[in-house]
Amino acid sequence: MTHQVPIQEGLFSWPAEQPQLLGSRCKNCGETAFPAQRECRKCSGSDTEVVTLGDHGTLWTWTIQSFMPKTPYNSDETEETFRPYGVGYVEMPGGVRVESRLLENQPDELEIGMPMQLVIEPFRKDEAGNEIVIFAFRRADSENA
Ligand SMILES: [Zn+2]
Repeated sequence: MTHQVPIQEGLFSWPAEQPQLLGSRCKNCGETAFPAQRECRKCSGSDTEVVTLGDHGTLWTWTIQSFMPKTPYNSDETEETFRPYGVGYVEMPGGVRVESRLLENQPDELEIGMPMQLVIEPFRKDEAGNEIVIFAFRRADSENA
């Protein structure tokens, strides 16, 4: 089985049956941030803790990435194999908004306020043959698994 490695440590719980997004919460003022911050952006306090943000949110805004992003976009895709994808902000319970890739890539599949489900997706292979995985969101009502 291919070893799956998160693209960045600390973004989501991994490995996990039901991965959850991870963020930080300021112990001083309660501000929540994603990705996790050592220093609070609101009160500049440095007493933050890692918290689980959950795996469901609602779509706050979105767009379609219809052409291949410029570097440092680091995938296995080429201009020929690139497929458009959605990009959006998903508002998590607690109010923090997370910028994320979306599995939907058609405008008529996306609607502001729709419920979204966190998914972990293969992104590319690294030099050692590991599969780099990223988080993304998809419509919660399209769940088949
Ligand atoms: Zn704070």
